Amino acid sequence: MIVKCKNCLPVDGIEIPDFSQSTKIELIGLTAQSSLQSIKFIVDNFNLSHRDAKYISTHINAIYGHCNRCNYDKLDEEYVQCPKCGALNFNWNTSNEKSKTHSP
Ligand SMILES: [Zn+2]
Ligand SMILES: [Zn+2]
Repeated sequence: MIVKCKNCLPVDGIEIPDFSQSTKIELIGLTAQSSLQSIKFIVDNFNLSHRDAKYISTHINAIYGHCNRCNYDKLDEEYVQCPKCGALNFNWNTSNEKSKTHSP
């Protein structure tokens, strides 16, 4: 799928892979430790350019529902523009993953 952020280049957005739930969890953890590590993980595992990997890493939410750029904390979709500041958020819901017995 293509994601776009009005604050970031390229303006046309980038194509992102269909990340599995386990990859999302891994990426959130890596991004929390070091954005460089998460960028490397994306480049190595998904064969993306450094630019695209950085774009993805930049937009991953550390806390579910909480905008990366401002203090808005009611985001409720996965790939969503913050209604307050307009920034793109990869708002992956991994917090209730134990209650799900299967993934699509
Ligand atoms: Zn952005
Ligand atoms: Zn925001």
